Amino acid sequence: MRVTATTCQNPLLHGCGLPPFTDIKPEQVEPAFSHLLAELEKELVHLETNIEPTWSGLVEPLEKLTEKLNWSWGILNHLMGVENSPELRIAYEKVQPQVVQFMNTLGQSKPIYNAFKTIRNSLIWDSLDLAQQRIIKAAIRDAQLSGVGLEGEDRECFNTIQMELAELATRFANHVLDATKGFILVLSTPADIDGLPSSLLSLAAQAARAAGEENATPEHGPWHITLDFPSYFPFMQHSTRRDLREKLYRAYITRASYGELDNNPLIIRILELRQQLAKLIGFENFAELSLASKMAKDVPSVEKLLEELRQASYNAAVQDLENLKTFAKSKGSPEADNLQHWDIGFWAERQREEKFAFTSEELRPYFPLPQVLDGLFGLVKRLFGVIVTPADGQAPIWHEDVRYFQIADQHGETIAYFYLDAYSRPAEKRGGAWMDACINRRKIKENGTTTIRLPVAYLICNQTPPVDGNPSLMAFDEVETLFHEFGHGLHHMMTKVDYLGAAGINNVEWDAVELPSQFMENWCYDRKTLFDMAKHYETGEPLPEHYYQKLLAARNYMSGSAMLRQLDFSSVDLELHYRYSPHGQETIADVRQRIAKLTTVLPPLPEDAFLCAFGHIFEGGYAAGYYSYKWAEVLSADAFAAFEEAGLEDEAAIQAIGRRYRDTVLALGGSQHPMDVFKTFRGREPSTKALLKHNGLLTAV
Ligand SMILES: [Zn+2]
Repeated sequence: MRVTATTCQNPLLHGCGLPPFTDIKPEQVEPAFSHLLAELEKELVHLETNIEPTWSGLVEPLEKLTEKLNWSWGILNHLMGVENSPELRIAYEKVQPQVVQFMNTLGQSKPIYNAFKTIRNSLIWDSLDLAQQRIIKAAIRDAQLSGVGLEGEDRECFNTIQMELAELATRFANHVLDATKGFILVLSTPADIDGLPSSLLSLAAQAARAAGEENATPEHGPWHITLDFPSYFPFMQHSTRRDLREKLYRAYITRASYGELDNNPLIIRILELRQQLAKLIGFENFAELSLASKMAKDVPSVEKLLEELRQASYNAAVQDLENLKTFAKSKGSPEADNLQHWDIGFWAERQREEKFAFTSEELRPYFPLPQVLDGLFGLVKRLFGVIVTPADGQAPIWHEDVRYFQIADQHGETIAYFYLDAYSRPAEKRGGAWMDACINRRKIKENGTTTIRLPVAYLICNQTPPVDGNPSLMAFDEVETLFHEFGHGLHHMMTKVDYLGAAGINNVEWDAVELPSQFMENWCYDRKTLFDMAKHYETGEPLPEHYYQKLLAARNYMSGSAMLRQLDFSSVDLELHYRYSPHGQETIADVRQRIAKLTTVLPPLPEDAFLCAFGHIFEGGYAAGYYSYKWAEVLSADAFAAFEEAGLEDEAAIQAIGRRYRDTVLALGGSQHPMDVFKTFRGREPSTKALLKHNGLLTAV
């Protein structure tokens, strides 16, 4: 291929090493990707025609090819998240369809699929190690799930279903959006807004102005309350107007369930198509298809877990409601004996305010970022024997606030690096927090020498930036978020696997991927860890004990109800994709009500149509997988319990278990089945006991 000066200089085409962030410009995106994709297409054809069913003849060249794409594509996606601009967005939208198409072609390549199967069935198989075998099995499975194994009419049918499902998901999402936008509760008198916090009044005045009420102000209105969660939720928590809460609640639970925006027929069609799709590739139903690539062995094992948690949380949820009634009565509420759905949020919030009277603002001075980082790095040194040190200046960065760190093992040898982009920058940075892989660990053989390429992670948070010369002062949930993302980061960075396809979080089943992240959150509540970092940024005074006690108590506030709600969602999701037949006697509303008998304390209203807005399973990737939230929580709680059982005060024991966690959960990545990894760490299969205990629900068992 002719290499022109322009492509040669295009920083998006370097293909390896740390991304040259300071040199990248939006106008380089299009030329880079058209050049790259043309090159990759040729390489793919070359690979397909010269394929050799061996590790070095198939897996290695395939990894090289995907790495090249992922290097450039990864940088572009990263910048979309942290340094967004209209120019970048336009460029991204232009190249995205071509990249997706190339990925589809690659994922559906028959010669590659056949070569993988040949390895699986040849004598070579036994010479491969377990990690290699697992990578190949996953490749065959993923190809099968994408329909590669199908021929002729079945193949066509598969593709048609896939297309219709994609279209239905978009229509489902649009209906929810339009139905959400289609309702406004207009408030115009002081009586209408009684109880509402000023932040909500600002938001509601802004919504009114956006709808044409030019003169709307937070002080004098008018105010528009909408069904958007940031508007809906605080209104239900704070409005003293029971009639308005009822009105808003009824609008919320009937979104997209009637008229032109009715999602009921779409749901039926989606369930029908998913069932057909599953049958085509050899599964009995969609739930089995979904579990084929997850840690959970089969549907009964998921149902067993959900039922265990349900039995432990149901009575607690009943008690939560009784407590709420008593509380409402003590406040002279006339509805106390007859609390309805639209009363729960309101009274729960009043009770919470009274019980744990503190705001997140009060805690901020005790959690300046530099101290929190010291605490976090001190914790991983204790647990895993690794040392984190600043490495600012050793890597190009995309914004002056971004930090760069290195991690060394107990012998002082560097094992990984990470970027930390901590502060919120609403103009150019996506909200939320995440960890992403910048570079994966991999063994590289070149010119007869073998080297290990070290992993690099992106850790992105959106916490309060430093103001007026003070450090960034973190709310407690921002501290938890940082620990959570650092847990994902450790999974990526502390891997010992040298194969790209199973290093770090690669090839880890997604109902297990939140184990290391949620595991780290537990440490925020550990006395030593917390008090090591929580000191007033001006006076050095340690966090007062009563705050610690309130944090512990608030963590379990109405935990039975919260747990039961998640179990309700998980159970309906599973039932619809496992036993339910769209052509049977029951409607989806019947299924919802039948399940609710076991998973709700206050039965849903007859017109409750929450399924019509259940985007997780009808437009997102959680179909027959909503349970994953709880599944991973069980694993992470049980992993943390290993430390509790040894005694959190016993430093030697903590360090010993920490090393074992490092050498199993963190080191093995996707090279072994997560159940085997867990068992190697814990010495047994996971138990729900620890999660129930952490949630204060163990006595109810
Ligand atoms: Zn996470």
